[in-house]
Formats: sequence, C-alpha cells, structure tokens
Amino acid sequence: MGAMGDDLGARHASTLNGTLLPPGKQPNVAVVLETAAAASPAWQAATWLLCELVSRGLGHASTLTIVTGDTKAVIALPGVAVGEAFGPALVARSATIGGVPAALPNKTPLDAITVRVGPGRSAAELEVIADNWAGGVRSPGEAPLLGLDEPALHIGSLIGACHAAAALFRQARLSGPGHSSVWHDAWTLQLSNLTQATPSAGPSRAALRLDDLVLAGMGAVGNAFALAALTHPGARGTLRAADYDDVDLTNLNRCLLFVRDHLGHLKADVANAVTRDLGQPQAALLVTPERAEQAFRNTPVPTLVSAVDTNRAREAINQLVPRTALAGSTFNLRVQTNTFGQPGPCLRCGNPPEPVEPDRDVKARVLAAEADELEELAVEAGQDAVELLTWASAPGCGELDATVLSALRQEGAATFSVGFVSALSGVLLAGTAIRAQHEPLGAPIVARAQLLRPGERLQGPQPSVAEPGCPACGPRGALPGTWRRIWE
Ligand SMILES: [Zn+2]
Repeated sequence: MGAMGDDLGARHASTLNGTLLPPGKQPNVAVVLETAAAASPAWQAATWLLCELVSRGLGHASTLTIVTGDTKAVIALPGVAVGEAFGPALVARSATIGGVPAALPNKTPLDAITVRVGPGRSAAELEVIADNWAGGVRSPGEAPLLGLDEPALHIGSLIGACHAAAALFRQARLSGPGHSSVWHDAWTLQLSNLTQATPSAGPSRAALRLDDLVLAGMGAVGNAFALAALTHPGARGTLRAADYDDVDLTNLNRCLLFVRDHLGHLKADVANAVTRDLGQPQAALLVTPERAEQAFRNTPVPTLVSAVDTNRAREAINQLVPRTALAGSTFNLRVQTNTFGQPGPCLRCGNPPEPVEPDRDVKARVLAAEADELEELAVEAGQDAVELLTWASAPGCGELDATVLSALRQEGAATFSVGFVSALSGVLLAGTAIRAQHEPLGAPIVARAQLLRPGERLQGPQPSVAEPGCPACGPRGALPGTWRRIWE
C-alpha cells in the first residue's frame, strides 16, 4: 500500500497507551454470504457492511475475499443497485474506498480468517448471527443461540456485522485471544455474551416516520444512522439533517457513505447524492450544508438525533429545544447511546464545551510554521502565505479574523476512531429512534458498550440524571421555560 492507503488507517493506528498492539499482524479475511441467507435483504445488508468495515480497516486486514456465489442484489446500498451481481458490486465498491484490496474467491488465500454471514454450514472461524433487533458474532464450535427469528428488519444483522468486524480487529490488535462471542440487542441496548443471551423481544414490523426526526451531524455516526434508517423496511418520509463540513481523508476509515472521489466535497452534498437511490423507495434524506442549530432554528424539532462529536456542537444543538433527544457517541472502543428527557438531562449535562483555542495561539502557530507547513495553513485559510503571515504578525483584530480564525482554529486534537465503533453507534441510535416511535422510552438512560473485551460482563442501560446546576437545563438555565413555551 502506498501513502494514500496508509492515511486511511491513521485514525485507528494508535495503541491507546499500550492497550492495543500497533498495526502489524494483518490477516487475510474472507466474508462468505451463506447460500441459505443469500436472498435476504437483512443478510445482504450485513454482508455489505462487513465488507465495508474490512475494506476501511487498513492496518488490521491485508486482503478481503468476498464469497457470494451468483447472488443478485435485492437491496439498494451504497455502490450496490438492485438486480446486479452482488459480489462483483462489493469488490468494485471496495476499490472506490481504496483501503484493503478485495477480490472474488478464485484467489482466496488459504490462511484467510473466514466469517460467514447468516445461518449455514460453511467452514468458518466466525459467524454473524442476528434476529430483527439484535445481532452478534459467535465461533461455530459454541452452542448456538436457539429460537432466533429470521431477520425481516436489518438492525440486528447490521449490529452483527459490526461485532464481526470488531472481533477481526481484536484478533489483529490484541495480544491475547481476540474472539469473544457476543449478542447485542438494539431494543434493550443490552450487550451480553452468548451464554446470557436471549432472542430480542422487539417487534418484527416497525414503522419509522422520518419526518419526525432531525439529525445533527453527517460524520461517521450520522452516516451509519442515515443508512440504517433509510434502509429500514418500515421507513417513510424525509430524514432532515445538517452538516457544514467537507469530506476529508481522515473520515474514510469510518464514514460509510463516503469514498475517495468525495474528498473535498461537502458532506451534505455527497450524502444527498449517494442516498438518492438507496434504501426504501418511500424514504429520503435531505442534508443542509449548515450547522444544525442554524438549519433548524425556526423548525419545531419533535426528535433531535445527535450524531455530532464535540461538546460545543452538543451545546449548540441543545438550543433547538426538541421534545425528545437521542444521541450516539464514541470514545476509543466504546459506544454510547443516550436518551434525554425534558427538562433534563439535556445534551449539555456533563458535557463541558471544549476550550476554544485563543486567537493569539492561532497566530503563534502561523508565525512558528516552517515553509511547507505555512503553505498548508495558507491553503486551509484560503489566503496566500504572505497575507497569512501579515495577518499573524499584526497585533489586535484584523479584517481577516473571522475567516482565518475559524478555518485554522484547532477544535481538539484528532483522536482514535475506528469504523466498527462508529457504525455500531449509528445503528444502535437508529434502533432507538425506531423504538421511540413505538413505545415511551421511559426515564432517560445512558447505555455504554465497551468493545475491547465485550463478552466479559453484561453491559446495559443505566439511569441518566440531569447535572445539578447544568447551565442549560438547570434552575438558572433557559431551556425549561423555552421548552414549555414550545411544547405545552
Ligand atoms: Zn442539562
């Protein structure tokens, strides 16, 4: 792999202070869609997602072999049209990502780790298992989880694909045994090992009114949320979303809608274009290239879905005063799902906004930059290098402050992130949004799922309470009164 490919793995290369091995052991991976499962939209969606996550997982896989026989696609997914040959479409899709190279099975390496998708008998090291709302991964030698419904919805099978990708990651990046069989239920937000697992209790049909949702953020979690929502068999209407950012290379290890051709384009434009023919015919996505608090400030927001990744952005979208809010977030190998209530807890509770880099520090960085670095900063700021230096040397405020400072200000150091974590967060969030339209969610919760050693203990939802004295929803905050004015 050349320099381009190496960059795709940069965001998940960290050892997390020695918790993970550095990228090095990179097994060949084969993904097999079982013949008995091949005509199922849910299992095809899981196969697509697993191939997607392996392709984007440069540094923990070296090749991907895709085994789907002569299956024809029955569901429209990014890079896959209904009716076309499924395996070749997945191989072509992988090439557009430009990460781990994929091929059809005439070249299957003998030492590949094989993951089979759906129930069947192919020899494999791992099996993706799922019902409608829950999914997971098991080693075929273990006792099976009995009584699973054949999935008619896709939430469970998408979760299973994420956990299979997580198991492959652990195998490459942990020194101990990487496998751990798990079962993760989007209806209850419970993650368990297989011995404690029970089939999901969620319904086998579930409408999703997209018009009642507003999605903030089209990053990795927002991408997966949109994909799971638009492909959900009960989805109707238009999912409105907002994101002002561009697609860049550091997004490609985890943003399921974006490929190399999209670099430098607005996330909003790309997401609108690639979802036009995707998912259910009656379901659409409309992303506005603005910050959500701008795009929706005059719109009542019944349910706000937060997929933003900074506390500043969380604080800002809090001003939309939704009736209900849901949030998905990630930290290293942890997935978190929150539900909020009015008047609290709110998105600001326990999420202090990150410090803003002071103006003088931005100027100091410009003045200290070497020639190459200065050129890069100038491009980012949309100025030439001389103008930028002149601006940075001038004391006090200048005409260029607004544009240059917002372009160059660091919003926090780039942190570890990896595809299966963000994808899982978005799918769980979609499951929660669907459930919220079927039954009252009850008291606010936070559900965390740690994917480093996920089978070791039960991980499920905990009650979540407002932060005492929260500046937004607390006794001196503005939210409670505003909420009553809008919604009562
Ligand atoms: Zn609050």
